[in-house]
Amino acid sequence: MPSVNHPGINKLANGWFISRMLLVAALFLALNALVGVFYFIVPGNIYPTVHMILEFTGVIVAMSVSLMSWYDYKYQGEAGVLILSVVFVMVGMMDFAHSLSYFGMPDFFGANSVNKASTFWILARIIQATGILAAVAAGQRRYSGKKSAFMPLMAIIVTLLSIYLTVICEGMLPPMYDPVLGVQTSLKVYLEYAVMAVMAAATLLILQKADKNKGDFDLAAALLAGIMSEMAFTLYSNAYDAYNLLGHLYKVLSFVFILRALVEEALEGIYRANHELVRKGEELAEANRQLRAADRLKDEFLANTNHELKTPLSAIIAFSELMADEENAGQLNELQRDYLKEIRDSAQALLDRINGLLCLTGIMGGKVVLCQEKMSLKEMVSEVVARNRPAFVNKGINLDVTFADGEWIVGDKEKLSMVLNNLLTNALKFTDPGGTVAVCAGVDREAGSSFFSISDTGIGIEPGQTGSIYKMFYQVDGASTRRQGGTGIGLTLAARLVEMHHGRIELESEYGKGSKFTVILPLIGLEEDKTCPQK
Ligand code: ADP
Repeated sequence: MPSVNHPGINKLANGWFISRMLLVAALFLALNALVGVFYFIVPGNIYPTVHMILEFTGVIVAMSVSLMSWYDYKYQGEAGVLILSVVFVMVGMMDFAHSLSYFGMPDFFGANSVNKASTFWILARIIQATGILAAVAAGQRRYSGKKSAFMPLMAIIVTLLSIYLTVICEGMLPPMYDPVLGVQTSLKVYLEYAVMAVMAAATLLILQKADKNKGDFDLAAALLAGIMSEMAFTLYSNAYDAYNLLGHLYKVLSFVFILRALVEEALEGIYRANHELVRKGEELAEANRQLRAADRLKDEFLANTNHELKTPLSAIIAFSELMADEENAGQLNELQRDYLKEIRDSAQALLDRINGLLCLTGIMGGKVVLCQEKMSLKEMVSEVVARNRPAFVNKGINLDVTFADGEWIVGDKEKLSMVLNNLLTNALKFTDPGGTVAVCAGVDREAGSSFFSISDTGIGIEPGQTGSIYKMFYQVDGASTRRQGGTGIGLTLAARLVEMHHGRIELESEYGKGSKFTVILPLIGLEEDKTCPQK
């Protein structure tokens, strides 16, 4: 049933509904009175054509109602519209049989007669009236039976069968038209009254509804037109007279009202969906704005906190270096020197992590720019290796360094040092004592790239994990990395920094045997050394 839940779209006030219904009823009665005053009989040579046009229009509208209701049901799943869909395909077919049985049409399974046409007519009206009553009663109740798709199909088969049986058994059925007297039988007239009563009951059911909407108004108007149609058919005394014509007209009008209700329902559905979409869009935009604000706050917080942490850490490193300088701070025994070194190394490790986090936050916020300058790859690698060598010695891991041809490249020395440092500390972490880590760096002029690679004889990485290790906070084995320490951002940061250099990281790894990370950077002409703001 046409239903609208969105407030303010088309709910109607009761007074408005009743007054509009009374207006429609008054218009219909005026039309009836007009026909009474200007009563005429349509000439026999014209009537069949006029009748056919009205009937076929009715059939087309009935089929459209059925189709529209079906799609309405498909999207909304309401029992009322499913009933309408089934009822109107039956009504359309019965009315089609009625039109084909009329005088002037070729014989339809045997000789045509007014009685045959009237039988199909009254059958169509009984189906129409009871169907609409059932649809109104079912209303917006949900129905999602699996067999619902077969219902219109079943209705078509049953109607075809009924049409065939009606034609075959016409002689056995009670007559609807008396050809001798040229009038409808009293049974036909009573049946028309019964149809009117059923339609009136459906109308009352709608009037009783608390929250009526435009769709309900159209349906009530359709029922009123249906009642008027039946009334006209009880009034006619000649099959070609003005009342008969008016009855057909009302019938088409009744179908059109129902179609209008369905079209409006569909349009309102689109309106509602659109309205909802706009609302959701606004909500999303607002959520997005809040997220951006929260993100900015987070960035600011991280930047401030990192700064707050870096300052005391730098002081710890500086003072532990000063204390280690025996000329300045006096003689230290071996144990004191060891403790001091531990303090310095731990503070440096912490500073490296904070710098990494700060750098990653900056990259995410689009605030990090590269300082591309002519630099010696050999020097950069040697410095990072020298910084890390004591830790390798401590853990008992061999650290080999080889340099291939070429030395000068253009890049951000500080950032590339960070990349190498992260890869080297990972190699150290994931290689057992006695293992070997080999660093190789050089320039491949033919390939137009420079590279540095770090291979280890460590735990290796399973093939299924190689894509994930660059994700932020990702650690292959939480337990082992907890043992080794780590935050899960080292490779993310390395990958981002290499990407910023338009390079890539290649990984070859054999689980249980070791891994090799190779950073490949495109060679930029030395003349392109322009991006360093402070230079
Ligand atoms: P983490 O701080 O945990 O080292 P990374 O982003 O640097 O974070 O590395 C992510 C994960 O990738 C590590 O936790 C580890 O599981 C795996 N990984 C990185 N380098 C190696 C390596 N050389 N050998 C084995 N696994 C590695």
